[in-house]
Amino acid sequence: MPASAEPLAAAPPDGPPAFRHSYVELPGPFFADIAPTSVPEALLLRLNKPLSDELGLDAAWLSGRDGVAMLAGNRLPATARPIAMAYAGHQFGHFVPSLGDGRAILLGELVDGNGRRRDLQLKGAGRTPFSRAGDGRAALGPVLREYILGEAMHGLGIPTTRALAMVATGEPVFRERPEPGAILARVAASHVRVGTFEYFARRGDLGSVRTLADYLIQRHYPELADGEDRYAALLEAIATRQGELIARWLLVGFIHGVMNTDNMALSGETIDYGPCAFLDDYDPGKVYSSIDRGGRYAYAQQPSIGLWNLTQLANCLLPLLGKNTDEAKARARTALNAYGEAFEPAYYGGLRAKIGLLDSATADPGADDELVQDLLSRMAQHRADFTNTFRLLGDAHPKEPATLEPIRAGFTEPTAFDAWTERWTARLAQQAEPDEARQARMRAVNPAYIPRNHRVQEVIDAAMERGDLAPLDRLLVAVSRPYDDQPDLLDYRNPPQPHEVVQRTFCGT
Ligand code: AMP
Ligand code: MG
Repeated sequence: MPASAEPLAAAPPDGPPAFRHSYVELPGPFFADIAPTSVPEALLLRLNKPLSDELGLDAAWLSGRDGVAMLAGNRLPATARPIAMAYAGHQFGHFVPSLGDGRAILLGELVDGNGRRRDLQLKGAGRTPFSRAGDGRAALGPVLREYILGEAMHGLGIPTTRALAMVATGEPVFRERPEPGAILARVAASHVRVGTFEYFARRGDLGSVRTLADYLIQRHYPELADGEDRYAALLEAIATRQGELIARWLLVGFIHGVMNTDNMALSGETIDYGPCAFLDDYDPGKVYSSIDRGGRYAYAQQPSIGLWNLTQLANCLLPLLGKNTDEAKARARTALNAYGEAFEPAYYGGLRAKIGLLDSATADPGADDELVQDLLSRMAQHRADFTNTFRLLGDAHPKEPATLEPIRAGFTEPTAFDAWTERWTARLAQQAEPDEARQARMRAVNPAYIPRNHRVQEVIDAAMERGDLAPLDRLLVAVSRPYDDQPDLLDYRNPPQPHEVVQRTFCGT
């Protein structure tokens, strides 16, 4: 290079990811070393280019021969150190002492340009010592679902794991029938779950519980590192994030479907999209999952299940929380209060914002909450679409009846909506705010686009029946910018026609 040449700009990322490792450095039985099992015919179905860029990865390398070989688990870069993580979990309330990654293999951690560390895991990469009777594989349908749902949640601004890529394996997997196999490359803040603590606590391995708690503080809650009562503070911080997270779920009509303790990530991200779904019409008791026969994980159960799961975590941490059981339990209870203290303002405040109310414009927030509940109960009774009711309310001018028409038409008994509108209009009149400003606020919290179940199903059917991924791409465009109007994608706002309604979702594992 001539001496006079301009210095080069920061080198673009080049070649394979440089994996870092903190989890595998932990002293203790936290994982099993295990390499992915090769697949016969790896085919890259989609690479998430924006996420690849965000991670500072080389998208050209990832979609080339070596990159696809890595994403399929066929050939790993030298810096990868593949493991399966150990964990336990309460599944539908029943404790299972040893679950672990039965089909997911963690390659290592990636640190982006901002110093943000994330796991890269291959889901469906083959059997592990934790596979039990499972085949270690994933079917294309659930992989597509997880890819879509992660991107949709990200678009909605809700903390979530995301898919970096999706690879077909060229190998069938046998579920109820043979299905095409696939692997999801998943990026997560980390994969430590409530169930990870349960694994060690149940074994009486207090040393590992402490090591894991210290690790979690360092990785996700560094501000607690030097504080007093750090383990109680950790429980409180985790509870706060979960309370906020589950409030966000409810506010967009999301039903996780399998809130087992092994599916609750301690980073505060939504994780493990199985038989999850979004509400169409508002029904608080709604259950989609075919395996949730008792409705344990119904839409409106999620807040109390969140606390139940955190209580299991608190039980694991008890020995770290106090000198004796009474003291420890008292600290745990105080810490768990943070859950409700985070959930309630996030949820009720979020609902008030969804109907455009400014807390500053009333002396009686309780009356505002009642106004929201009145709408919700009318919506439930008259089967109004959750997403569209709120979105259209944001577009409406209460004094122009024509703008209310599309909303009332969504109620089986439109006059039930009219009665509420009168109350709402009177309340809005107390806000000295131009209608346009209120509408802008409402549009920013009420999505137009969610991954509606029939649309997700349409994507899966097209991919499975015709190998056609065009519907996937269209849906991803819609849900990646859920708060924008996107006039050419209006059909994605439509609720299902009666014959399109998805009644059941399956985990398909
Ligand atoms: P999930 O319902 O996906 O959260 O999985 C629950 C447990 O079953 C976890 O330990 C998974 O690793 C394991 N598992 C799910 N599907 C498979 C499979 N096909 N092969 C092996 N293990 C699996
Ligand atoms: Mg899971």
